[in-house]
Amino acid sequence: MWTGLFILAVVSGSLLGANPPARTPPRAPRPAPELVRIRFWTAPDHTRLVFDLTGAPPVEPKFRLSGPSTYEVVLPRMKKSLAVTSEFVGDSLVAEIFPSADESGVIVRVGLKQATTPLAFVLAAADGVPDRIVVDVPAPPNALADTVLQQQVSEIKRSKRLIVAIDPGHGGDDTGALGYRRLPEADIVLAIAKKLKAELEQIPGVSAVLTRTGDYFVPLQRRVELARKYQADVMISIHCNASRNHEATGTEVYFLSLTGATDEASRTLAESENAADLIGGISPQAGDDLLGILFDLRQNDTIRRSSELAENLVDALREEDRLKIERGVKQAGFVVLKAPDIPAVLVETAFITNPREAAMLKDGQFQSKVAERLADGVQTYMKTHARSASTN
Ligand SMILES: [Zn+2]
Repeated sequence: MWTGLFILAVVSGSLLGANPPARTPPRAPRPAPELVRIRFWTAPDHTRLVFDLTGAPPVEPKFRLSGPSTYEVVLPRMKKSLAVTSEFVGDSLVAEIFPSADESGVIVRVGLKQATTPLAFVLAAADGVPDRIVVDVPAPPNALADTVLQQQVSEIKRSKRLIVAIDPGHGGDDTGALGYRRLPEADIVLAIAKKLKAELEQIPGVSAVLTRTGDYFVPLQRRVELARKYQADVMISIHCNASRNHEATGTEVYFLSLTGATDEASRTLAESENAADLIGGISPQAGDDLLGILFDLRQNDTIRRSSELAENLVDALREEDRLKIERGVKQAGFVVLKAPDIPAVLVETAFITNPREAAMLKDGQFQSKVAERLADGVQTYMKTHARSASTN
């Protein structure tokens, strides 16, 4: 049968002459993309819902408040996997998520607990993550809480000589690098960051604050904003390095370069860390306005201090025998280091893709050692750069 059809096609082609009119073969209708998974994360100031899709929505989705406590995501000409059922969220902002489907498409209703306007957007597939719909449900503005926070920050600023913002990379839908046996970078760096905060707060005159306290996504620029909101004197971003070559090892501390990276590997590393916003997802409206206003004269002094902090941290990390420090201090264009007025460094603690280093990174005692060494480095930096706390 198949052969017969083929011969017929050849014969009819030859009857039409040398240049048969081009004909697009009838294409099989593409299957409607499906909603295959719903995930959510609770952050202190918002709840994020992510809907994983098998393809881009064929028609622009509609996002609307359909009542005081219901937000709807309408996905025409899409299907819903049977595995997707209603989800109980039950945090302070979202009660439940109800997906439903009929022949016209899929509707996901989100039950809201507070008066707020969610921000939703479509994200194209990137770097191993599928096409997605992201719905961010923000906590309503709370002027009183903001005032109280500002008072607390001012009080800390008066009584402490150094405020350190610790930034655990990744989180939520951005797991960071998946290491040996799929160990997620986001979990390891949060554990080290929490231990570092505890270590730093043992030092008289030092206060530490985390840009992320749990498993949720924080856009890169927001991390810088948080450091500024807490009036941090320095910022330390914690990451794990990753490589396709599972033999790759070593520890590096980076500070910002505005002109280029130390070497090709540093440039690629910064690119992959900067892709966090692509993976975790920020709305297309969220521009990089901060990056535009940054680079004035203050930046030179900030970068000089950043390089000193990086040297101090590397020197302290050398005391930990299990770390390989040949790589040492380097420079590259990490977005999270682009604070105009806060000296900032990014620590690539070790390679999560190397079986030996992954085992170390997972070990709570090793995490504590790294935290102790980093705190030592901060103490050295503090000797030359701490403010004098006002005594009133
Ligand atoms: Zn990272």
